[in-house]
This record gives sequence, C-alpha cells and structure tokens, in this order.
Amino acid sequence: MSRLVRRRHARHVPVRTCAGCGRRAPGAELRRFALASNGGVEWRPTGGRGSYLHPSADCAGKFVARKKLVPGLRARVAREARVALVAAAGLGG
Ligand SMILES: [Zn+2]
Repeated sequence: MSRLVRRRHARHVPVRTCAGCGRRAPGAELRRFALASNGGVEWRPTGGRGSYLHPSADCAGKFVARKKLVPGLRARVAREARVALVAAAGLGG
C-alpha cells in the first residue's frame, strides 16, 4: 500500500475537496469518509480510499444528490449508502 499523504512542509496545510460542494478546504474543516467493505461508505479518519465532506447539511444534501463519481473514491456509491452516511453524522436534514 502506498502512503498518499506525506507532509512535505511542517506548516503546509493539506487541502481537500468537499464531495458535496466541490470546494477545496483545509482537511481540518472537513470530515473524512472511506469506502466500506460492503461497498458502502463509512466515516473513517484514516485508511482505505477516502473522500471528504463539510459537516454541513448543505454539503450533505449536495453529496446525496450528486450523480458523478465521488472524488477520491473513484467509485460510484449507491444513493442509499450516501443517505446512510450523512444520517450517521446527523446531517440528514
Ligand atoms: Zn462542502
């Protein structure tokens, strides 16, 4: 397994792309989720193929509604799995 994230500079803030609004933001402002073994997605701080989402109902809604591949995951995630993910974070609206 390759290590994708390596801090090149101590003060460099890693920038991630939100899977909802598509904006880039420091990783600390986003919550990480990853592909689960059952083909769904789960909140996971490290490991697996991950993607990021702003912890807001707005971004959660856009994430559920999007039809494109989820950035970072390079996979299609079933709508039900996306709904379950945002519901688990209390972002279901
Ligand atoms: Zn967002």
